[in-house]
Amino acid sequence: MRYKYCPECGTKLIPKHAGDDGAVPYCERCKEFRFDTFHSCVIVLTYNEFDEIILCRQGYLSDRYTSVTSGYISPGENAEQCALREVREELGIDLESLEYAGTYWFGKKDMLMHGFIGFAHKQDLVLSEEIDSAEWVPAAKAPETMYPDGPGNALHELYRLYLNKKLTE
Ligand SMILES: [Zn+2]
Repeated sequence: MRYKYCPECGTKLIPKHAGDDGAVPYCERCKEFRFDTFHSCVIVLTYNEFDEIILCRQGYLSDRYTSVTSGYISPGENAEQCALREVREELGIDLESLEYAGTYWFGKKDMLMHGFIGFAHKQDLVLSEEIDSAEWVPAAKAPETMYPDGPGNALHELYRLYLNKKLTE
């Protein structure tokens, strides 16, 4: 969110110098700077002992298996807790390990994505209503249905990290 008006009192903001940050929108009534804000989210690539990863299909987006678990971090929660919670909620799985895999800026939606690679032994999935279907897919075949690679596509970055990880194991 890039503020033009104060989110507390509605006053039109004016640019004011804020140290190293330069000109920042400022509310003269609240005497507060209103820095740009953005969403923090997680994206989790889950794999198993058979070199399979979980791909999800969300019918309103596509009829193909395009994506992996993702979700908004709730206030009071850290990124790791969010990653474990989202995988549990969406797929019915408790990850056995979770590895931080960097951050990715998703400019289209002003989101900072925190990437994770999670491991769980192969098991049946218990899907939430948000997910129309999800499947364990051989990792080598996953790019056939994933959203195409491109700038800002965190899933492909995670996928490459996963492949490198398997090569060095
Ligand atoms: Zn204000």
